[in-house]
Amino acid sequence: MNFHILTLFPEMVMHGLNTSIIGRAIKNGLISIEAINIRDYSNNKFNKVDDYTYGGGAGMLMQAEPVYLAYKSVESNIQPNKKKRVIYVTPQGEPFTQKKAKELSQSDELIFLCGHYEGIDERVLEEIVTDYVSIGDYVLTGGELPTMVMIDAISRLVPGVLHNDLSAETESFHNNLLEYPQYSRPEVWRGKKVPDVILSGNTKEVEKWRLEQSIKRTKERRYDLYLKFKTSQKCIDVLKK
Ligand code: SAM
Repeated sequence: MNFHILTLFPEMVMHGLNTSIIGRAIKNGLISIEAINIRDYSNNKFNKVDDYTYGGGAGMLMQAEPVYLAYKSVESNIQPNKKKRVIYVTPQGEPFTQKKAKELSQSDELIFLCGHYEGIDERVLEEIVTDYVSIGDYVLTGGELPTMVMIDAISRLVPGVLHNDLSAETESFHNNLLEYPQYSRPEVWRGKKVPDVILSGNTKEVEKWRLEQSIKRTKERRYDLYLKFKTSQKCIDVLKK
């Protein structure tokens, strides 16, 4: 999968993403990430890409043309048969969820557009964007951090990126449940012991305990998810057992 990031701060995203698991995935050729500096497509000698908002209002707005030209520089190199999405990261978008990450991970080419200042001229958004996505109900200074969050979450769903692809299937949000508590060595840490059932070696019992813990934890911490789980097929299957 290829990620293309249209941004005013390429070094921020490249530095942030080129480490640990994602860095290794890049090295192994499972994903590629490039950052395109929108400023390189400015049409004035000061490399300015923002201007005042028509109608008044606080702050500056990113202009349409540099964004469009930066987008075109990427799009013109993508073959028409490739599955492509253009994501504008914005607080006005649909919430980014594990489900959305899965959906986007089915693409071949993902182009992320990072806004700054007051945002971007609406006309270019109408022209190029396929998805408006937000990482939460708060306003950040720029789209670089949301883009990094999304690329991280999507990349780990690409086959081979995680050492064990199963781990993406058994963790939080699968079946609308949060993951169960987990423990590593030592068996006793500062007087706190790992639950006996986990050490029992009885796989069936461990599985049962984990599911119960997942349900309990989801109910306590994310009642909204718990309500979704309660009306799901998974819940019906669990109750049948
Ligand atoms: N004026 C805009 C509004 O009220 O909706 C906010 C602009 S914000 C200061 C600048 C840029 O940061 C946005 O264009 C967007 O790309 C990014 N951004 C800020 N908060 C975000 C969020 N919660 N999710 C995704 N992107 C966000």
